[in-house]
Amino acid sequence: MKRYPLILEEMTMGEFEEGIKLTKTILIPFGSVEEHGYHLPLSTDTIQAYEICKKVSRRMPLFVAPPVHYGNCRSTSCHPGTISITTTTLKGLMKDIVRSCHSQGIKNFIVLTGHAGGSHRMALQDAGEELVSEIDDIQIAVLTEFELARSAGVGIVETEDDYHAGEIETSRIMYSHPHLVKGEGRREIPIFPSGILVRDKRKYWQNGVWGDPTKASAEKGKQLEALVVQKIVELAKMMEGFDE
Ligand SMILES: [Zn+2]
Repeated sequence: MKRYPLILEEMTMGEFEEGIKLTKTILIPFGSVEEHGYHLPLSTDTIQAYEICKKVSRRMPLFVAPPVHYGNCRSTSCHPGTISITTTTLKGLMKDIVRSCHSQGIKNFIVLTGHAGGSHRMALQDAGEELVSEIDDIQIAVLTEFELARSAGVGIVETEDDYHAGEIETSRIMYSHPHLVKGEGRREIPIFPSGILVRDKRKYWQNGVWGDPTKASAEKGKQLEALVVQKIVELAKMMEGFDE
C-alpha cells in the first residue's frame, strides 16, 4: 500500500486511520482570494502555500489539510476580484480546524500562509497563541511562506522591494502553474501617503503589483520553491522531535 503523501482531500477514512499511525503532524495551508495584478490568478497565495505543503508531504509522512482559500486582505480590498474575510472569522476558522484535527489525534500543526498581509498574519499568530494555552499536548508553528522565499532567495531575487505579484510570486506561479500566468505584468512600486489611512487604496496602487514581475522566471520559481520546501521539512522534523 502507498503510505504517503497524505493529502487529506484525496484520502479515505481507512487511509486516514493508517496515516495517523505514521504521523501526528499536519500542514495547514492558508491563502487568499486577492488580486495579484493583471497577470496572476486571484488564488496565487493559496496555490503557492498548497504547492509547498504537497511537495513537503512527498518527502516525509505528514498530513496536508485542504487549503483555506479565503484570507484577510486590507491594502488590496478595493482592487477587482479581492474577496476578504474578517480577522475574527479567520481566527475562528483556524481554531476550529486545529481543535477538530486534535480530536482526531493530531499533535503537531504547521500553519503555512501564502498571503503575507500584516493583519492576516497577526490573526493566525493570535489564534495559535490562544490554542497553545488552551490545549496542553499540541505544538503549533505559524509561518509565512513568502517571507521564507524572500529570505532564502537572497541571491536569486533581483528586485529589492518585491512584495506582491512581483518577481517572487510571478516566478513561483510560472514554475508550478504556467497555464495560469497571463502575460508578463509590469513593474510597480506604489507610494502611499505616509501615516494616513486612505479610503481608496487603488488610487495609490493602480495595477496591484508591488515589485517587478518582468524579472521573474520559471527557473527562479523552481529554486525558490525548493528552498521553502526544504525549510518546512527541517521544521517538521524538528517539531516532531521537540519536547517543550
Ligand atoms: Zn501574494
